[in-house]
Amino acid sequence: MMTETCIFCKIIKKDLPAIIVFENEEFIVFHDKNPISELHLLLVTKKHIESLQSISINDSEWLGRMIALIPEIIIQNGCKNGFRVISNAGTNSGQEIPHLHFHIIGGNSLHKKIL
Ligand code: AMP
Ligand code: ZN
Repeated sequence: MMTETCIFCKIIKKDLPAIIVFENEEFIVFHDKNPISELHLLLVTKKHIESLQSISINDSEWLGRMIALIPEIIIQNGCKNGFRVISNAGTNSGQEIPHLHFHIIGGNSLHKKIL
């Protein structure tokens, strides 16, 4: 998908509205518009990368920084009792938006284990 038509690239450029809860030079975090739990955030790279299928060992540093943001995001969004992180990658996963993102979900509805 071209970056011009990508929904997440549009949100990053502020061409589409979103409830943004965190932003720095590399990443943006906003509420999923169709939440599956009390807290459902999307942690998204500002660079248009399709999915975890397209990363390699050369991406370790920024991926480390991306994952390391999660505890602070969780604290700031009041989810002290635990959370789950999911990243769909590719066709079989049902990935709808081909721009790398982590779903961060939390809240009581998390009780049902999926894995
Ligand atoms: P995935 O299947 O992992 O690509 O998930 C894409 C997610 O993006 C879904 O959970 C959608 O609800 C969410 N989503 C799609 N469009 C928007 C939008 N404009 N603002 C916020 N979340 C969105
Ligand atoms: Zn994009």
